[in-house]
Amino acid sequence: MATSVVLQKVEKRYGQLDVIHGIDLTIDPGEFAVFVGPSGCGKSTLLRMIAGLEEISGGALLLDNERMNEVTPAKRGIAMVFQSYALYPHMSVYKNLAFGLETAGYKKAEIEPKVRRAAQILQIEKLLERKPKALSGGQRQRVAIGRAIVREPRIFLFDEPLSNLDAELRVQMRVEISRLHRSLGNTMIYVTHDQVEAMTMADKIVVLNSGRIEQVGAPLDLYNNPANRFVAGFIGSPK
Ligand code: ADP
Ligand code: MG
Repeated sequence: MATSVVLQKVEKRYGQLDVIHGIDLTIDPGEFAVFVGPSGCGKSTLLRMIAGLEEISGGALLLDNERMNEVTPAKRGIAMVFQSYALYPHMSVYKNLAFGLETAGYKKAEIEPKVRRAAQILQIEKLLERKPKALSGGQRQRVAIGRAIVREPRIFLFDEPLSNLDAELRVQMRVEISRLHRSLGNTMIYVTHDQVEAMTMADKIVVLNSGRIEQVGAPLDLYNNPANRFVAGFIGSPK
């Protein structure tokens, strides 16, 4: 069973600076939601609050109707995928995949099947002994995603995971992440400033601007019926 994510009047302040202004949002179980908006609008801040890496200044976060505000990141069952350069350079691919499970206290015999399964899903079984520097950009990105899969999270969060890949590889990895979503069925939240990524990958797009939601909807809804000029300009539709 996939997990629902609900934000109720969520706010974030850094000292005197208000960056998120009372966001209400529901992400349905199994949905692929994309947060899109210009740099500095609060996408990463929202994602980090959902992950528990950042405290929520006001409002509530619910996962499967259970309040998470005070729950530690480890207990939320969430994994976050960063850009591929976040791999440990001195460790093999196997070690990179196993490391998080080792620190979480899993035994060797439990870790191995989880690592093998993730490697199989991502088609990197033959690369397990290599170091990251001996991998292509796309292979590295698969390992970064693999580190999330091994933990069997209920939700996957992606923060601009493809932004340091070249254009061709970005297109290929979009397709692979969409395929991963279809095969695992988990709720996923994907942050990008790239309209094309949002349009091609999302079940639901959340358009953010200066810490507020401008519009939420399916890609074609936003394209055909943008709520305002900002959304129209951002999604690239005529209005
Ligand atoms: P995005 O990911 O959409 O580019 P962020 O969530 O990173 O935006 O940032 C939103 C706003 O919050 C920006 O104005 C940024 O400068 C500010 N901000 C982000 N993190 C911090 C922090 N740790 N301390 C102070 N301000 C921050
Ligand atoms: Mg960001």
